Amino acid sequence: MELNSQAYRAILENLHDGLYLTDSQRRITFWNKAAEQITGFSAAEVVGRSCADNILCHVDGQGKELCEGLCPLAKTLEGVQGHEDEIYLHHKQGHRIPVSVRVTPLYGSGNEIIGGIELFSDISNRQATELRIKELEAISQLDHLTRMANRAYLEKELRIRIEEMHRMLIPFGVLFIDIDHFKKINDNFGHAVGDDILKLVAATLTSNARPFDLFGRWGGEEFIGLIRNIELQDLEHLANRVRVLIGSAFLIHENRKLQVNVSIGATLMNLEDTLDSLLRRADALLYQSKKNGRNCVTVSQDLPAD
Ligand code: GH3
Ligand code: MG
Ligand code: MG
Repeated sequence: MELNSQAYRAILENLHDGLYLTDSQRRITFWNKAAEQITGFSAAEVVGRSCADNILCHVDGQGKELCEGLCPLAKTLEGVQGHEDEIYLHHKQGHRIPVSVRVTPLYGSGNEIIGGIELFSDISNRQATELRIKELEAISQLDHLTRMANRAYLEKELRIRIEEMHRMLIPFGVLFIDIDHFKKINDNFGHAVGDDILKLVAATLTSNARPFDLFGRWGGEEFIGLIRNIELQDLEHLANRVRVLIGSAFLIHENRKLQVNVSIGATLMNLEDTLDSLLRRADALLYQSKKNGRNCVTVSQDLPAD
């Protein structure tokens, strides 16, 4: 059976995965429906532009920007074999989304490379998140601005985790996350932009959470993460990944790129902890991160010395 080009186009258009084609200059020539859904950018917004043009702005788990040369597509265009990677792309609303990416070169009739194909799938647990939002809404434990768990829900979950630790010794960690110099965002750009930044931080946390972890808004510009079944060293890794991903998310406001950093206090529950002592310790460690210059993580199982 021979397929005509229209039939091929329809297949590409309706793939479950995001797919785009570029020419040899990395200008986007085709952008399918799933790519629109995953990234928030419509075909009209991206076709004709370069993938390094403040659109997808891929970063790796360390926050390193990949579009300027380390980009999987750029490597493919230079003749490096097609390959797979897990990286983070920039959603139109600003937050970072984890995607698995596969790239392959496109060959012309003389076997020369004339462009590239990038196929990507969203690996955030979107469905689980949507379900959780519905549940929270039903029991009034949703923070309406950020669409994540509110303080009441976090407290309830914390009590359950503490119980679990006492009964079954399932360890868990707490991240106390506070946006650095957030007041300046409100002062310089207005409260509505401040709200958009809060949503951006929330979406970055939610889309990068493992299904059994929980991130919620504690209040103001403070967020808490409850991380199940983890050791101190892995908690530190996870906290740093969260910090870097938030730091590399951005909004475009009146042609300016707006970004924020966060400081984090991270600790594991001790058997003798109460809700109060656990949160006090996470908060004291966060304060230590602020004192150490912000945009960093302080992790410990003990209260800081001062
Ligand atoms: P630091 O690095 O020490 O954390 O400084 P900061 O400016 O982030 O901290 P500070 O506590 O001085 O300011 C927090 C600001 O967050 C003040 C408050 O107006 C703002 N804020 C709290 N809730 C909201 C909200 O829902 N929306 C907006 N836009 N701003 C909020
Ligand atoms: Mg604060
Ligand atoms: Mg702050």
